Amino acid sequence: MKTSTFRIVPLPTEIAERGRRMAVSGAPDHAIVIADSPRGYPCRHCLCFAQPGERVVLFPYQSIPAGHPYSESGPIFVHAESCDRYAATHQFPADFREGRVMRAYNSKFDMIDAEIVGDSEPEPVIEKLFQNLETAFVDARSVTRGCFTFRIQRA
Ligand SMILES: [Zn+2]
Repeated sequence: MKTSTFRIVPLPTEIAERGRRMAVSGAPDHAIVIADSPRGYPCRHCLCFAQPGERVVLFPYQSIPAGHPYSESGPIFVHAESCDRYAATHQFPADFREGRVMRAYNSKFDMIDAEIVGDSEPEPVIEKLFQNLETAFVDARSVTRGCFTFRIQRA
């Protein structure tokens, strides 16, 4: 089996934990919601869809830092209860093989390319984006709502 040329970067645990704490403390930009569909509430920490009935925290996350033309903050979910950070970082997460768009950024956080993973496999799309030496990282986002899902770095 071919060794992966990239590494999956899930949301850091401290950001998930902070989101949970702020939701419990009643921060107005942090909401606790109950998942009501099997594929609508992706947890950015364990990189699985929350299942109907599970509680998730919804809060804004700055995936591209402030001070750049492509700066971006947007809504993400994490499980409201503690979950294990996605650990199989050499493997593309099974729950997100469909329905993602891959955005390539350079080291200045400029978006330089993007490609939808349609009926194809995600790995060749990612490898193609990394063939451009300008690509510093690739962000996987929801193709429908545009929300940040996880980052991908060179291995
Ligand atoms: Zn989770």
